[in-house]
Amino acid sequence: MEKIGFIGLGIMGASMSKNLHKAGYQVMVFDFSEARMQQAKEVGMELAADSMQVARESDIIITMLPNSPDVKRLLLGEEGIAQYARIGALFIDMTSGAPGDSKDIYAELKKKDIHFIDAPVSGGEPMAVAGTLAIMVGGEVEVFERAKPLFDVMGSSATWVGPIGSGNACKLTNQIIVAVNIAGLAEGLMLAKKAGADTQKVFEAIKGGLAGSNVMNAKAPMMMADNYKPGFRIDLHIKDLTNAMNAGSTVAVPMPLTAEMLEIMEKLSANGDGNSDHSAIARYYEELGGITFTE
Ligand code: NAD
Repeated sequence: MEKIGFIGLGIMGASMSKNLHKAGYQVMVFDFSEARMQQAKEVGMELAADSMQVARESDIIITMLPNSPDVKRLLLGEEGIAQYARIGALFIDMTSGAPGDSKDIYAELKKKDIHFIDAPVSGGEPMAVAGTLAIMVGGEVEVFERAKPLFDVMGSSATWVGPIGSGNACKLTNQIIVAVNIAGLAEGLMLAKKAGADTQKVFEAIKGGLAGSNVMNAKAPMMMADNYKPGFRIDLHIKDLTNAMNAGSTVAVPMPLTAEMLEIMEKLSANGDGNSDHSAIARYYEELGGITFTE
């Protein structure tokens, strides 16, 4: 079994690394957060003194950080840890980031005979805990095959979607569709509300039809209960849509809906909803409509 290094033990990484440990892998971990390191110690994982030690002593190093510039800095910045990695080592970046950053990192690591794939996830904390994430992978197919046993522990599906950067392109596609779906849901329910319909009944009437979706089932009840506990935070979604807009401009794809969603979410964040669940897009419609979903 290859020795695994795991850097970034946040909401997602804590459970993902723990599942690898429980599956019998030897896992060495590092995070800036003392509390996160302590939790990893309690389940029996090996703690590294710093990320350089992780790079030196692991065959496969997984990163799960906030955004891909964080990964770029960690691997390639001043004191970047890639210089300490073994020839033939594999870095798997599971952060939701930018396709362009993944390509840059891949090109630099290739010069050092180090492998790199981008493998962001969908599913959130409950699926990270259960080991049932959906994993989207970009990179060389043989390298994907090497990582596949680890993906099988952390997720219920791992799909190769194209060359390096494609995992993040796939994740951004997912994030665009989710954002626009939530807004469509809020806009429709606000119309129903102001037209005098019972929004709960509207939800029940349409959820089994063509408009029905996982987004509707998860988010409509939250909107009607004024419950915006995350879940997935508005500020993280802003990060993803910003990466999507940049990726779109790189390949000349106009994205008017994504641009509008980014404006809406930035307004919500500026008004104090950055840490609310992204279903709080409903609040934007409440303000426009001059009425709340609960009144
Ligand atoms: P988080 O902020 O909870 O965790 C990030 C962790 O990385 C923190 O513990 C931080 O201390 C650590 N960190 C940052 N830089 C570091 C460095 N250089 N060295 C060591 N540790 C470092 O974030 P999260 O919710 O776990 O999300 C991680 C990624 O997964 C993000 O890209 C996010 O968009 C994506 N994602 C999150 C969810 C979700 O529901 N939370 C779902 C799918 C995907």
